[in-house]
Amino acid sequence: MPVTKLAGESEWDIIEVKGTAGVRDIHFDDVSYQKYCCDRSGLKIRKCFPMYVNNEYVREGEIEPEKYSTMQDTTAEVEESSKGIQDRIDTMLGIISASQCPEIAIGKHCSVPYDCPLTECWDFLPDGSVFDPYRGGNKHFELFEQGVLAIQDIPDDYSLTPAQVRAGAGAHHLCNLTPNWASGIPPF
Ligand code: SF4
Repeated sequence: MPVTKLAGESEWDIIEVKGTAGVRDIHFDDVSYQKYCCDRSGLKIRKCFPMYVNNEYVREGEIEPEKYSTMQDTTAEVEESSKGIQDRIDTMLGIISASQCPEIAIGKHCSVPYDCPLTECWDFLPDGSVFDPYRGGNKHFELFEQGVLAIQDIPDDYSLTPAQVRAGAGAHHLCNLTPNWASGIPPF
């Protein structure tokens, strides 16, 4: 949630209120867009501050709201993120106004920096896919990019960590698949 605060007679500071316990890179992009909107509206922006939860605050007696959150001057980082913003906005507007959806494969961009709500893009995957029982991880996408969609099709010589073998074996029991690499793992 952005807040603008008068700083001096004609300049403004942007304060972006976050529910996190620190500043993340994605916050610079958020604020750079807010600064872009302010600039276009004629507001002269002086500094940019994400405001986030001070996780070192310990309540002693009455709550002290001014200690509950903290701010960091990220004006320089926001300036850096602002480079090329007009081109990015033009690209996004072009996609929004296109008559056809762009052909984009599923990938890490589906959950980074936030989960995309359009989960139907994943519907083509078979039961017992390499993304089961949870989505994410380098191995999942590595296999997917090699054309391996189902757990049972993972090559026998493919390197998996013990945790990934256990996770895959769990899906194997759910889906009645019999991958060779899961043999010897006791049922759970
Ligand atoms: S799930 Fe979202 S981010 Fe992923 S391909 Fe579909 S529309 Fe794009």
